[in-house]
Amino acid sequence: MKKNDKPENRETITLKEHIALIARGLRMLRSFEEKVFAYHILASVVGSVAPYLPMYMSAVLIDLILEGGRLREAAVCAALTVGLTFAVRLLEAWLDEARDERDWLQYVGEEWAFSEKAMSMSYQSIEDRDTALLNERVRMDNQTGMNMWTLMTRSKSAVASIFSILTAALMLSPLFFGSSLSLASKMLMLALMIVSVLFKIYSSRRVSDHYNASGEIYARYNLVFRHTYEYLEKEGKDMRLYGTGRMIVEENRQIREKTDKVMLEHTKKTAFIVFPESILKGLLQTAIYLILVISAVQGGVSVGSILKYAGCLLGLLNSVSDLSRYISELFQNNRFFKRYFSYFDIPNEMVQGTLTVEKRDDREYYVEFRNVSFKYPNTEIWALRHVSTKFKIGEKLAVVGENGSGKTTFIKLLCRLYDPTEGEILLNGVDIRKYDYDEYLNLFSVVFQDYRLFDFTVAQNVAAAVEYDPDRMTLCLEQAGLGERIDELPEGADTYIDKGFDESGILFSGGEKQKIALARALYRNAPFIVLDEPTASLDPEAEYDIYTRFAAIAGDRTAVYISHRLASCRFCDKIAVFDRGQIVQTGGHEELLAEAGGKYAQLWGAQAQFYTGEQGG
Ligand code: ADP
Repeated sequence: MKKNDKPENRETITLKEHIALIARGLRMLRSFEEKVFAYHILASVVGSVAPYLPMYMSAVLIDLILEGGRLREAAVCAALTVGLTFAVRLLEAWLDEARDERDWLQYVGEEWAFSEKAMSMSYQSIEDRDTALLNERVRMDNQTGMNMWTLMTRSKSAVASIFSILTAALMLSPLFFGSSLSLASKMLMLALMIVSVLFKIYSSRRVSDHYNASGEIYARYNLVFRHTYEYLEKEGKDMRLYGTGRMIVEENRQIREKTDKVMLEHTKKTAFIVFPESILKGLLQTAIYLILVISAVQGGVSVGSILKYAGCLLGLLNSVSDLSRYISELFQNNRFFKRYFSYFDIPNEMVQGTLTVEKRDDREYYVEFRNVSFKYPNTEIWALRHVSTKFKIGEKLAVVGENGSGKTTFIKLLCRLYDPTEGEILLNGVDIRKYDYDEYLNLFSVVFQDYRLFDFTVAQNVAAAVEYDPDRMTLCLEQAGLGERIDELPEGADTYIDKGFDESGILFSGGEKQKIALARALYRNAPFIVLDEPTASLDPEAEYDIYTRFAAIAGDRTAVYISHRLASCRFCDKIAVFDRGQIVQTGGHEELLAEAGGKYAQLWGAQAQFYTGEQGG
C-alpha cells in the first residue's frame, strides 16, 4: 500500500481540455442509456423552476388582498397558485420516478461499455499488468463516486442552477429596470451580490479541492479494503492455518483509522471555509430585506413584491454560488476522467489485415515460422529466439521442453495472440499480419492449459453459441471421452455447468471440464488443433485414453500437442524440443533419443529416473 496521502494527479488542465472532457463524458453517459439521461435533465429543469412559481403567485396574491376589494380575483389567484404548484410538483415527481426506475440501466450501460472495451482490446493489452491495474484504479474511482456519477449529479444540478438563475433574473428584471427603487439601493444590492458571488466562487473552489483530495484518498483506500475483504472471504485455508486473518483485520483497522483521521481533517478545513460564507449570506439576506422594506415604505415597490424579490434575489445568489461549486467539482472530476478515458483509449496495436483467408476443403494451409524472436511487452528476456519451423499439413507435432522454455509462447504467436518482435510467420507464403485477424483466428482450435468454461450449458460452452447442431455435439463429446457421462444426465448436453446460472447445474470434475474444453476445440472443426498440456488434470486412465485416440481425434487436421511429459508424445509424427526459447532438436522419438547428449535424451533420462524413483518409492 502506498503510504503517502498526497493527491497524485495535480497536473494543470486547460479550460479547453476541461470542456472537451466534460463533453466527452456527457456523450458517453448519454450512450449508456439515452432516456435516463433525458429524464435527469428534464427533472432538474422542472425542479429548479418550480419554487419560483408560488413565489411569484404569492406576491400577486398579497398585493391583491392589500389593495382591498379584489377578493374574488384573490381567490382565483390562490386557487391558481395551488393548482399550478400541484401540477408542477406532480410532473417533477413523475419525472423523478421515471428516472429512478431506469437508473440501473445506466449502470448496466457502463458495465457493458467496459465489457465491450475489453473485447475490442488486443490480447496483449488484456494480459498486460498495467492494463489490469488501470482498470482496477478506474473501477475504484467509480466506486468512490468519481467519473460518471459525479458528472451526472453535478451536471444536472448545474443545469438546474442555470435555469434557476434565468428564472430569477427574469423575475427580478422589473425591480432593476421598471421599479422606482433608488439608484443607490440598486447599486448597493448589486455590489453586495457581486461580493457574495465572488466569495462563493473562491470558497467553492477550495471546498471542491478538498472534495477531490478526499476522493483520491478514498479511492486508494477502497482499493486496499477490497483486496483485504477478498483475502478474508476467499482465502480460507491459509487464513486458518497461519492466522493471517488476524494480521489482515488489524491492518484493515489501522487503515480505517487513518482514513477516518484524514477525512476528519478535511471536514474541519471545509467547515472553516463554509462558516464565514454562512455569515456573509446571513448579512446579505438582512441587507436585501432592509433595502426592500425601506423601498416599500417609500412606495418604490409593493408589499407583495418584497417577498417575491427577496426570494428571487436569494434564489439567484444561491444558484450562482451552487453553479460555481458544481463547475469546480466537474473540473476536479476531470482529473479522474483523464484516467477513466485513458483506459477507454488503450489502442489495439495488432495490425488488422484485410486479406481474406482462402476457404479450402483440402485444408492445405501451410504455416511457417521464419526466424521468429519474441519478447513479452515490458520485458527484456527473449521468450523465443530465432525460431524457424514449418507445419506439414495433417502432421501431428509434439512440442516438448522444460517449463519456461517457450512452448506456450510459440502457440500464442502461432494463433496471433501476439505478433513477433522479430522475424515473421507466414500462411501460404504471406505474412499472417496481412490477413483479416478474425479469419486467421478461425484456422485454430486451441485448448489452453488455463482454458475457461462458463456457467452456461455444456452445449453452449462446446458450440460457443446458443443454437447448436445436436449430431455434431454428440460426436464431439464422444470424441473428447465424455459421451457416456453426458448421456447419463437428464438434460444431456443442455445441463448447466456449475450453479452460477442454474441451481440444477452439475459440478464437473477438473478432468471432465478439460474434456468439455477439448470437445469445444473439436466442435469448431478448424484445420489446426492445438492442445496445451491437455492431460494435466486427467487421471492416468483418461490420459492414456486421450493419447491413444489422439490421432483419431485430430483426424486430418494439423495437430500440435504440448507436453512436458515426454512419454505422452511418442505417438506424434514429429517432436520439436524447446530449450530457453529455441527449437534445439526436431525428429521422431527414437531418432531424438539416439542423439546422445541432446536435450531430448537428457529430459528423457531425467523423467525416466523420476518415474523409476517413484515406482521404487
Ligand atoms: P512454457 O510454456 O514452455 O512453460 P512459456 O512460453 O510460458 O513457457 O514462457 C516462456 C518465457 O516467457 C518464460 O521465461 C516466461 O517467464 C515468460 N513469459 C511467459 N508469459 C509471459 C507474460 N505474459 N509476460 C512476461 N513473460 C512471460
